[in-house]
Amino acid sequence: MAAMRWIPAGIVLLLLGCGGSAQREGEGVTAFMGATIFDGVEPIDDGLMLVKDGMVMALGPAGTFDIPQGAKLVDLKGRFVTPGLITGHAHPGGSVGLDSSPELYTEENIISDLKLYARYGVTTVANLGGPGPQGLAVQDAEKTPAIGRARLVDAGVIVTGPTPDEARAQVDSNADLGVDLIKIRVDSFLGTREKMAPETYKAVIEEAHKKGLPVAAHLYYLEDAKGLLDAGVDYIAHSVRDQEVDEALIAELKERNVCVCPTLTREVSSYVYESTPEFFNDPFFLETATPAVLEELQKPERQQAIQQDKAAQSYKQALAMAETNLKKLEDGGVRIVFGTDSGPAARFEGYFEHMELQLMADAGLTPEQILRSATSDAANCLGLPKVGILEPGRFADFVVFGKSLLDDVGNSRTIESVWVGGAEIER
Ligand SMILES: [Zn+2]
Repeated sequence: MAAMRWIPAGIVLLLLGCGGSAQREGEGVTAFMGATIFDGVEPIDDGLMLVKDGMVMALGPAGTFDIPQGAKLVDLKGRFVTPGLITGHAHPGGSVGLDSSPELYTEENIISDLKLYARYGVTTVANLGGPGPQGLAVQDAEKTPAIGRARLVDAGVIVTGPTPDEARAQVDSNADLGVDLIKIRVDSFLGTREKMAPETYKAVIEEAHKKGLPVAAHLYYLEDAKGLLDAGVDYIAHSVRDQEVDEALIAELKERNVCVCPTLTREVSSYVYESTPEFFNDPFFLETATPAVLEELQKPERQQAIQQDKAAQSYKQALAMAETNLKKLEDGGVRIVFGTDSGPAARFEGYFEHMELQLMADAGLTPEQILRSATSDAANCLGLPKVGILEPGRFADFVVFGKSLLDDVGNSRTIESVWVGGAEIER
């Protein structure tokens, strides 16, 4: 025993003998000091976070651990820090301007959109499917620390069937491409399209689970939510919007630990251009908006068409139902994942995520509930072990705000800087 106690002491002496080791201890370390840090779960006043090699090294209240000598110091006194936001439903590369043509779904456009998300503090994006496999070329959520843009989780090509055999083959080809999850749509789009049949979605879920892949479902109707849950679906990618959710659904969501992504801004996007939206005057939006797009969206004939469009008006009602259901699910203890369905034309990436925060607050969620849904809960629901929480072993993906989002999520527009893998994003 005595001999063993000498070994560590020997190592300590050796280290001290190296000369300058105290200085070297802090080499490559950055200490972010003085902010209130919401780590994804709870706030820490006068927080201290050490970052090295793009990863969080240590996090806690100031004074609970030492700052290594030689570390670079960043003073964040009076600021508010959260993990980078995670959107659990988006479509980067889904459009250019107002054009959503499938041929615009390119690696280049996906990357450019991921930069836009990051600029607005969204540092992980779940791409719930595109017309092709292009997202997989840049899918890297769990690989590199500092990538200068949002990380991408990718569902590959949306599985459409229509027959169970075709659907199984589509799941297999997605699995071969290396997708993170499978995406299906079970919706008649207000009676305008053929809805995926239960035998097809059952086949998708069974095949995906064989390959170890979770299945996310676009849906609209309560009845489909129940059918999908019975069939083993893993993730609900929109709000139930035809009627109020009931106790049976809440109980099954909780029992099966299935998360719900409300995408309230999706509803807004379907009717808001019936007139000129207020946010067209918002400097936080205008920073990245394209004048030609704004001009097109304000054309009187376009606005009139939306005023007269039954579907658009019906989604206005759907938003109110989605908000009611969000509050019921949250109160019932269902895990909510922040998400918008941004990316398709006129669903503005990055900015719409800030609108979603506000809509969730309007629905009655507290700032803390909303922030968890956009950080730790989103990471847990999507199975992402390296993002969503600021703690040792995870990427140093975080956002610095001028004001606290725990006072008001509307303060999200006070973004001062965004960091991905410990490196500041160009804004
Ligand atoms: Zn979508």
